[in-house]
Amino acid sequence: MRSEVTVPLADIGRARRAAVPQPQHDVPASGSLRDRLHRPLTDLRISVTDRCNFRCSYCMPKEVFGKDHPYLPHDALLSFEEITRLARLFTLHGVRKIRLTGGEPLLRKNLEVLVGQLAPLRTADGAPLDLTLTTNGSLLARKARALKAAGLDRVTVSLDGLDDAVFRRMNDVDFPVADVLAGIEAARAAGLGPIKVNMVVKRGTNEQEILPMARHFRANYGGGVVLRFIEYMDVGATNGWRMDDVVPSAEVVQRIAAEFPLVPLEASAPGETAQRWAYADGGGEIGVISSVTQAFCHECSRARLSTEGRLYLCLFASSGHDLRPLLRGDERQGVAPASDAQIASAIGHIWQGRSDRYSELRAGRADDAAQAGPAVRRVEMSYIGG
Ligand code: SAM
Ligand code: SF4
Ligand code: SF4
Repeated sequence: MRSEVTVPLADIGRARRAAVPQPQHDVPASGSLRDRLHRPLTDLRISVTDRCNFRCSYCMPKEVFGKDHPYLPHDALLSFEEITRLARLFTLHGVRKIRLTGGEPLLRKNLEVLVGQLAPLRTADGAPLDLTLTTNGSLLARKARALKAAGLDRVTVSLDGLDDAVFRRMNDVDFPVADVLAGIEAARAAGLGPIKVNMVVKRGTNEQEILPMARHFRANYGGGVVLRFIEYMDVGATNGWRMDDVVPSAEVVQRIAAEFPLVPLEASAPGETAQRWAYADGGGEIGVISSVTQAFCHECSRARLSTEGRLYLCLFASSGHDLRPLLRGDERQGVAPASDAQIASAIGHIWQGRSDRYSELRAGRADDAAQAGPAVRRVEMSYIGG
């Protein structure tokens, strides 16, 4: 049976804070860090705000994230300088790809300034980073050119359907499809491609949009937009997830292949979350992200940094390691900020202790708890990003 937990409103989504391990020995950054399951740290997702202008029912349902929801105060957020400092230390440990996310990242004021600070960072072997952003697209038409000029490489835009009524209902703030499409077009024109479009598929809600989305993104943009279908996940504790709401990726592929034959493609990079399929007629490709039906924990190389500096090792974690005290120190307690080497060592220790593989464990359980969703309080997707 699922046990209910009561989450104090002020705490929703933030989960607990785990102590940063006190290293017994240094873990200097060597460009190649491995966790307990031998997975490298190559991908960092940075949440720049816990706020969003949408209320997608699967992520920030209105009933929970209402008008009085207590978001983080401004001084709790990491500054751009703090984010950039941490990002640089992560690259020394092997991070090659940084994705800005949220909440809605484009709500963070002057985000292009942060992009401008991150863009010059290099990987441990001196290559440029892959610098990307995931957005709901609502502000993209206004921001695309400035983001590109600041050094952003690509964007991923979330869009759950082309039918205006369906999409307005899903974002729950009556936001029109046309404005997101305008954002995608602006991103394409600014050179922020190849653009990925993410569609979360929820049974009985937007599954009828699978084919119209496939037709639209195949026919337009000359292959410059890759549509990806995401299985609805049991992240967080507020969306009332049920296994019955998940449309398995295999079914999505089947539905599309019935109209447009598909052939499987190789993964573009190790640790790639999407399985890729090409249209047999050369009309581009699609991806499916099967977090529920085909767990990919064995090659999960992602860390997530929350808006106020907590490091999460898994999307389904219930606690994060608080790096902010290391960055800021504590004047009242006479604690000085930590040095770069000390922070890098702490990051190294945290990653070396990682053994998270939630989705694989979930897949191994066929009991009520797995079917019904979370029994323990977990961090919300809107707090650490996708
Ligand atoms: N607000 C931005 C956006 O929507 O693109 C960035 C943050 S959002 C949390 C990142 C991604 O997570 C989006 O593509 C969204 O669709 C996805 N997402 C949120 N909740 C989800 C869930 N329960 N299952 C699967 N994907 C989810
Ligand atoms: Fe906002 Fe993105 Fe979550 Fe939708 S999925 S509520 S746009 S953070
Ligand atoms: Fe990675 Fe956790 Fe997702 Fe597994 S469940 S793929 S460990 S984030």
